[in-house]
Amino acid sequence: MSFLLLLAILIGPLKAADIENVKPVKNIILLIPDGTSLSTVSIARWLQWYNNPDMPNLAIDPYMCGTVRTFSSNAPIGDSAPTTSCYMTGIPSIAGYVSTHPVQDAANDILPIDSTRAYQPLVTVLEAAKMKYGKSTGLVFTCEFPHATPADCSAHSYNRGKYEWIAPQMAHNDLTVVIGGGTSLLPAESESYLRNNGYSVFKDNLKGMREFKGEKMWSLFSEKEMPYDIERDTTATPSLEEMTRTAISKLSQNEKGFFLMVEGSKIDWAAHANDPMGMASDYLAFDRACGAALEFAKANGETAVIIVPDHGNSGISLGSSRCSNYSKLTKDQLFGQFAQYKLTSEGFQAMLNSRPASEVQNIFRTYAGFELNDDELKMLYNNKGYKNSPIPLEERAKGPELESLYSGSLSGFIAKLLTSKTCFGFTTGGHTGEEVFLAAYHPEGDVPMGVLTNVDLNHYMCALFEIKGELDEMSNQTFAKHTDVFKGYKYEIVPSTEKNGTPTLVVKSKKKQLTIKPFTNLIQTGKKGTETIKLNSVVVYVDKNNTFYLPSDLAKHL
Ligand SMILES: [Zn+2]
Repeated sequence: MSFLLLLAILIGPLKAADIENVKPVKNIILLIPDGTSLSTVSIARWLQWYNNPDMPNLAIDPYMCGTVRTFSSNAPIGDSAPTTSCYMTGIPSIAGYVSTHPVQDAANDILPIDSTRAYQPLVTVLEAAKMKYGKSTGLVFTCEFPHATPADCSAHSYNRGKYEWIAPQMAHNDLTVVIGGGTSLLPAESESYLRNNGYSVFKDNLKGMREFKGEKMWSLFSEKEMPYDIERDTTATPSLEEMTRTAISKLSQNEKGFFLMVEGSKIDWAAHANDPMGMASDYLAFDRACGAALEFAKANGETAVIIVPDHGNSGISLGSSRCSNYSKLTKDQLFGQFAQYKLTSEGFQAMLNSRPASEVQNIFRTYAGFELNDDELKMLYNNKGYKNSPIPLEERAKGPELESLYSGSLSGFIAKLLTSKTCFGFTTGGHTGEEVFLAAYHPEGDVPMGVLTNVDLNHYMCALFEIKGELDEMSNQTFAKHTDVFKGYKYEIVPSTEKNGTPTLVVKSKKKQLTIKPFTNLIQTGKKGTETIKLNSVVVYVDKNNTFYLPSDLAKHL
């Protein structure tokens, strides 16, 4: 037997036992920097230290304890939907699936997948905390609210893009506090449900949010996603740290405890754009939110904090083959130019397209600390996304070779330009499959250590909330197939009269009728459908198998 195998046998069971036998806590705060590879954290830390010589460390540094292998059910490299879904449900899933059981892909499944549960909505740790204990629940993020990570906590869909299915589920899941982006994406029906059920709803109303004394609140900023932190108008848009502190102050009023998920959503977006300042500055904004969560947890004594990305992104490296002898470069050479960037590539694009070409050099001097040389200016003027170029669109550089240089988006060109002045490298504009860092705080020191899987991390959270091994049974009780729940009753799926509308399930007994519209927690009953049954969970409809998923005891209302 090899030494390593012996070590694995000795350590393996011990680690699992530690994860599942921790002292329970009242509150969990899970913080997810989306799409954050460890190099992003390294560059952000250097940037902070370079700018503030008395701040060499990040808030998360003392709590780093391990790594997490994060994968989809049938692929080693995950996207945001199945990765956080797995943290929340304990079951890895397929690309695009939001807390929904995967379809079996036997030849490729990384762990065994039960084919009979395909498309079943899976109860999340957040939903379990609410349903089993009456804990308060909260979501804080900077993307639009139906985006993958917040949706993974509070909605169910095999298609992360179906906001029309996801948004109403999030409104009807009775979350206590929601703070993030997406004022244009809250359906009118969802908003009136919230207002009729004791919520205050704020839209682009920082003052309203700050003055609000109650607990139940949806506070949305920006039509879709919120701005990058470095470009935030501080008089109109809160920082992720303020959003986190606000959420904690509301949630901690419930003596039964709370579950809060905080996402630094756009670190991932900047990584997709290969924009190093967007990544580093949004990571630092996220780190300050982690600091707020840790500060609360340490004072509170009953709160665990878990900080973990959902996957890597961009293959960013500190050091690039473009720079000769880069390992000998000083911190000034590596970070001096970079530290002068005051906008993301998107920010530069917006500014360049809103000001005359005569201001180009001034803009770069002021917001990037350099002026464009003749070649760079030529490339900018020929870029097809540059609206104010002195070269008319039809005269800009053509031909296969030139097309690839100039035809990308303006922000894409600027991201490359800004990166070219650094010694950072990128290998891709997409996700990467390396394991992600894990940082954790537990009041008794019961933090997970070593290399975990995404499934292990779910088991750790379940142990913290004493729902160990219960999620599967809760999913079967909360999301049973209508064909099982209403066996022996007369039921009919009535198609929607609207284009792309969702169908309605109508169930009849001799005395009563249930009219069930999916993606809400409300069911109409009574003689003329005038009474409403309010569930503690949402009903989900899946068109792939024409099935409504609803509570297994729902027939008791007939
Ligand atoms: Zn992600």
